[in-house]
Amino acid sequence: MKCPHCGHDGSRVIDTRDSGDGIRRRRVCKQCNQRFTTYEQLNTAVHIVKSDGRREPFDRIKLLNGIRVASAKRPIATAHLEGIVDQIEEYVHSSGRTEIPSKEIGNIVLNRLKAIDPVAYIRFATVYMDLPDLESVRSEIDRLMDRS
Ligand SMILES: [Zn+2]
Repeated sequence: MKCPHCGHDGSRVIDTRDSGDGIRRRRVCKQCNQRFTTYEQLNTAVHIVKSDGRREPFDRIKLLNGIRVASAKRPIATAHLEGIVDQIEEYVHSSGRTEIPSKEIGNIVLNRLKAIDPVAYIRFATVYMDLPDLESVRSEIDRLMDRS
């Protein structure tokens, strides 16, 4: 566990706390004496791999927020959005993999949203499929309109 202040490898735990789905440890660096907090999840964390190669831990709340933003002011029940996130969380943890491409997660969300609300679908697609310009947003809308 490297100190985030000086990069030193040795630290001493000064406080350990159960925080629901993980363990929080307060640490003090043996070299610079600065304090920092580490968080350990009880399950092996699944990481999401983004299109640029960056990895970040799967974060249910972040995903839900993304879907919420896409669905703002649309007639979709919150329970419905939570249901989508539940399904994805289960998918992620039952896959047995430790890394899943963000695109794969995005596609599952898109498939659900498409069936529920086309506007929320397009909003989510704009962000998560990285539609770079209006032209590609329009062709995605065209594709959607053709199908329905
Ligand atoms: Zn340090």
